[in-house]
Amino acid sequence: MNRETLIARLKDIVGEDNVLFSEMDLTLYGYDASMERGRPDAVVLPGSTEEVAQIMALAHEDRIPIVGRGSGTNLSGGTIPTRGGIVVHFSRMNRILEIDIPNRTVTVEPGVITLDLQNRLLKEGFLYVPDPASQKVSTLGGNLGENSGGPHCLKYGVTTNHVIGAELVLYDGSVVWTGGKSQDNPGYDLTGLLVGSEGTLGLVTKMILKIIRAPEKVKTMLAIFDAIEDASNTVSAIIAEGILPATLEMMDNVVMQAVEASVQAGYPLDAAAVLIIELDGMEDGLERQGEKILEICKRHNVRDVQLAKDDAERAKLWAGRKGAFGAITRLRPSYMVGDGTVPRTKLPEVLSKVLETGKKYDLLIGNVFHAGDGNLHPLILFDERDEEERKKARKAAVEILKICADAGGTISGEHGIGLEKKKEMFYIFSESDLESMRQVKRAFDPEDILNPGKVIPA
Ligand SMILES: Cc1cc2nc3c(=O)[nH]c(=O)nc-3n(C[C@H](O)[C@H](O)[C@H](O)COP(=O)(O)OP(=O)(O)OC[C@H]3O[C@@H](n4cnc5c(N)ncnc54)[C@H](O)[C@@H]3O)c2cc1C
Repeated sequence: MNRETLIARLKDIVGEDNVLFSEMDLTLYGYDASMERGRPDAVVLPGSTEEVAQIMALAHEDRIPIVGRGSGTNLSGGTIPTRGGIVVHFSRMNRILEIDIPNRTVTVEPGVITLDLQNRLLKEGFLYVPDPASQKVSTLGGNLGENSGGPHCLKYGVTTNHVIGAELVLYDGSVVWTGGKSQDNPGYDLTGLLVGSEGTLGLVTKMILKIIRAPEKVKTMLAIFDAIEDASNTVSAIIAEGILPATLEMMDNVVMQAVEASVQAGYPLDAAAVLIIELDGMEDGLERQGEKILEICKRHNVRDVQLAKDDAERAKLWAGRKGAFGAITRLRPSYMVGDGTVPRTKLPEVLSKVLETGKKYDLLIGNVFHAGDGNLHPLILFDERDEEERKKARKAAVEILKICADAGGTISGEHGIGLEKKKEMFYIFSESDLESMRQVKRAFDPEDILNPGKVIPA
């Protein structure tokens, strides 16, 4: 099918205004938050499951690649249309369809912005927990695609622990449901398989999500350390004592400098690292847990532990943490963010190897990450316009993933594999592991049209 026919057929399905194909549109939809670039043949904005099903049937008819897209904030090249084809942008499918408090679920379309759902639920005294730092702009469909995490996922689990059902358009345009509101479903856990599949198995058009009651009380602390090892050791010690805070986030001096220049969150500019430790739950137990954490911090040479006195102070601490990726570009024009995960007791050793890697390539690396999960986010700073630096940054990023894999960890905690980390899949999976994934992919997508070339190396 030539491009003109494709565009005309798409217009028939979704209407004139909902197909984009200008030079500028095709260039823009060739980007996401990764370093990769591509170009689709057309972009389509469906308004319903029926329209998605018709678009998929059209793609199936002519084996046209099809790439689902939320807000394009993924950090691994997951929405890059490497083989042209159709980008399906879910921005119009952004309705919260049902808030079912008695069953503690919500049903939503995939284009709902994560924070919009969270703000809506707060009015009812409820939470949808997974809170990626990009929550102001990321979509719930994108969160499902990447199995996103966030600070509060330490205690409550990442996206896969909160999606209990999905409506899915398959490669040939047929529509199926996986999971549902009932607690335990027999048969294969297809919902589990979908979460984190990066749009390679089908397009999700509705999602059923678990919600929880908002905690009675929250206590947020900033623990300030003069040595990064002390901060890392505190993380393992807190968990070893049997305390499970809602968050255990770490930020090093490089990142604090950038954040303070940008947000003025009140971080100490002369410290080596800080931990943002948040406890939540019933008021009674929190005081005791807070005291225990203070004692553990002291055992690990903490300089000071400051308590957020009110909601405004708490919001400032989180604004700093959530704005960290954006703020870092004050130091250099570009950054590449790692996402390796290691057993948390390995944090001190792995962090020092990360910093050594920076020295080896003469690149500044800042660290801001979900320390409680052992999920590192080294921010490798460079200038994208400098080809040499760009290559060095890429090499450093790959070496850091190897360090994580060698430490018994893995190459992605929450940002997915996409295009950028396909080769590194060999660090953690054997050829037969990968072959079993290819078989799953073939079962869902025999013609390889769904986000082709992503996740699984050839
Ligand atoms: C500043 C910044 C901070 C970030 N912080 C975090 C963080 O704290 N934690 C975290 O986990 N991530 C973080 N991210 C990464 C990113 O925001 C997440 O991966 C997010 O879930 C992507 O959402 P999106 O709507 O942008 O999805 P997109 O990037 O558009 O898509 C992501 C994947 O999902 C697929 N997809 C999208 N919609 C559908 C659908 N309806 N059906 C099937 N597949 C679909 C796409 O094909 C793609 O593979 C951050 C990114 C940035 C830029």
